[in-house]
Amino acid sequence: MRIETLAVHAGIRVDPATGAVVPPLHTATTFEHEPDSTYPRGYLYSRTANPNRNALEECLAELDNGEGAAAFASASAATAAVFQALAPGDHVVAPLDAYFGTGKLLRDTFIPWGLAVDFVDMTDAAAIKAALRPRTKIVWVETPSNPLWRVTDVAAVAALAHGEGAVCVCDNTSAPIIQRPLALGADLVVYATTKYLGGHGDVLGGAVVARTRDALFDRVRAIQGSGGAVPSPFDCWLVRRGIRTLPWRMRAHSDNALKVATFLATHPRIEAVHYPGLASHPQHDVACRQMTGFGGMLSMQVRGGRSAAFAVERQVRIFTCATSFGGTESLLEHRASVEGAATRSPDNLLRLSIGLEHADDLIEDLGQALG
Ligand SMILES: *Cc1c(COP(=O)(O)O)cnc(C)c1O
Repeated sequence: MRIETLAVHAGIRVDPATGAVVPPLHTATTFEHEPDSTYPRGYLYSRTANPNRNALEECLAELDNGEGAAAFASASAATAAVFQALAPGDHVVAPLDAYFGTGKLLRDTFIPWGLAVDFVDMTDAAAIKAALRPRTKIVWVETPSNPLWRVTDVAAVAALAHGEGAVCVCDNTSAPIIQRPLALGADLVVYATTKYLGGHGDVLGGAVVARTRDALFDRVRAIQGSGGAVPSPFDCWLVRRGIRTLPWRMRAHSDNALKVATFLATHPRIEAVHYPGLASHPQHDVACRQMTGFGGMLSMQVRGGRSAAFAVERQVRIFTCATSFGGTESLLEHRASVEGAATRSPDNLLRLSIGLEHADDLIEDLGQALG
């Protein structure tokens, strides 16, 4: 089946008890078992499994053609579970421009816990090769990366990782559907379902999707159950509902973002536009090879520095100044001030999450805000 069909149907069946076409919400924390404590219907206690989470996990696995998926209460919990599956002394190669929270989690929690971590430029194959060690267990990729939307060649990095006996994990939050990391050679995919999968800015969630049900994925699963950072049934229900329209939304986000990026690219008040869909983007060729759309995220650098960027934030009418991305409404934010002292984001950079409004309205809004 094609991706649009899977997005509608994967993990969803007509409810046998009622005939309901849409999956019912099961809020029960506990399920009736047999007197001998066996549970032939598959459910015992909702932290370990529940019908809404199972439906979501089945859908996530099918969408990426993986053998399994584990849903979490946030992507940060999913990310932590992957690192917890390693042992102290193990080594991780991570991107210099990883999601801010991923870098912070590694620095503040996992390095003190005993992981060795090298942060490298993932567009530099020589730097990745130089960082690999006998105890390297994970090479972490995030592409396109925030906030410059640099593109990493997933197939090339996965091959380097496999050559050293490591696995390649790809945070695919910014490009679900339009980029298929498992097909490109990654072993695990991490998502913030908070973003495009939920798609409506009303649910926090994360997931790990595995190409094979191997020992590493079993560890992630065990940490999900025993660590308990699980999403509620309603959160799972919301994410599963969001996914129904995901392939169509990604197309619309990508179309809108390309139009906005093209407009900004020639605007006299803009110093630089960062969007993988522009021919001027440094990894545009890699993006064309591994993506079927370029996504809804872009950044612009405004001439005049930080104060000029703030002035644009004050002037916009349709865009809302807010963090996060992937919802129906367009958002704008100054990453450097959100991230604080440790930021790598340029001071005049505004990150744009292009929503599902009409592109011309977004372009007019940015045009008036830039003056
Ligand atoms: C938002 C985000 C996360 C973290 O998601 P949470 O659900 O807030 O924990 C991780 N990776 C990327 C790329 C993100 O954009």
